[in-house]
Amino acid sequence: MQSTIKRRPLGNTGLNVTEISWGAMNVRRLPDEQAAIQLANEVLDKGVNLIDTARGYESKDENGNVVMASEIILGKAISARTDLDEPIVIVTKGHAYTPEDFDRSLTESWERLQIREEGGKLFIGSTQIFLAYFLHGIMEDRWKTITTSGTLEHAAKRREEGRCHFLGFSSHYGDSVVIKEAIETGIFQLCELSYNVYNPSLGEEGDPDIIKLANEHGMGVVNMKAFNGGGTVAIFKQLEDITGITHGDMARFSLSNPYISCIDAGVRAIEELEVDIEASLLPVMTPDERSALREKAKKISPFLNVICRECLHCVEKFECPQGIDFPHILGMHGRYSVSKSLGLDITNYKSEYAKFAPDASACVACGNCNEWCEYHLNVPEMMATAAKDLG
Ligand code: SF4
Ligand code: SF4
Repeated sequence: MQSTIKRRPLGNTGLNVTEISWGAMNVRRLPDEQAAIQLANEVLDKGVNLIDTARGYESKDENGNVVMASEIILGKAISARTDLDEPIVIVTKGHAYTPEDFDRSLTESWERLQIREEGGKLFIGSTQIFLAYFLHGIMEDRWKTITTSGTLEHAAKRREEGRCHFLGFSSHYGDSVVIKEAIETGIFQLCELSYNVYNPSLGEEGDPDIIKLANEHGMGVVNMKAFNGGGTVAIFKQLEDITGITHGDMARFSLSNPYISCIDAGVRAIEELEVDIEASLLPVMTPDERSALREKAKKISPFLNVICRECLHCVEKFECPQGIDFPHILGMHGRYSVSKSLGLDITNYKSEYAKFAPDASACVACGNCNEWCEYHLNVPEMMATAAKDLG
């Protein structure tokens, strides 16, 4: 497709990808399948050639039935296209940390994405794809399961057999020891890591600089959370109002890191993607510009370690047994806390909180949700604080 988006090498894979990739996580938040397929088509029309999805990116109804699943939407959208004139890189991920789960998860991804093999190549409809299969959200306990169950060797074998072209993993802040180990196994060609102006700790402010290390190992790095949620999470809109750091500034900050292959735009509307593309076409930030932006961000960086980002990763595989919508309660309480600390208006938060049923007071502090929080938040403790502050 004709595209204005610049391209970068995807590590040593031999592929060049658009600097702006599409994080298709948020299609589950769109009103219906038609809107989701339309957005997928608009993204493809822009020439984006790396799409990032996962098994867990789905929404469910109150009976636990899948309503909207990102992989299924992509399978339907891409299989209906006959005009895509270059292969698309599809990154998908599974919470699969044993050989059995790896096979089950990979097979289900093939089905949902409508992948077929022909002549040693993979296709969705008539469009050739390069499939990257990721271990989703590795952290200490999951990494232990992966490394002791033979999953790494098993995954490498499946890659050799042509079930996927590349192997990768995703991970978040706080897991740099595990990430470093994963990089150094030499098994993975790609990884997906959090990095942005508010928290570059997996980059230049980390010891070691993990993103640089991945690059030195020939890995392609997909940058997630470059926008702290793609403009979709209320707390980050609030932070933009306070710091003056725009969505475009955040895109430029990430893209001025030379070790990053592409940044995932988790857009829910094509206009958001257009803003990201526009920012990516501006000159790369100078070191001085980066430092100045980082100084502005530092004003509020400390808050980000103790608030819920409403990323919803925890509820991809877990439901609170008490039926509490804890991510949205915590997200709202985070906005309340930041506003209070900065002396801003907090009058509407109690009425907003009153709409939750059950609310935070129903939390029995079982702690079952903690292992699913990819930011290592202490959810029961935070729920108790939310109940005290807003109840
Ligand atoms: S700690 Fe609270 S929010 Fe978390 S699963 Fe248990 S009851 Fe639900
Ligand atoms: S509890 Fe953790 S994983 Fe869940 S939405 Fe909040 S930050 Fe994300």
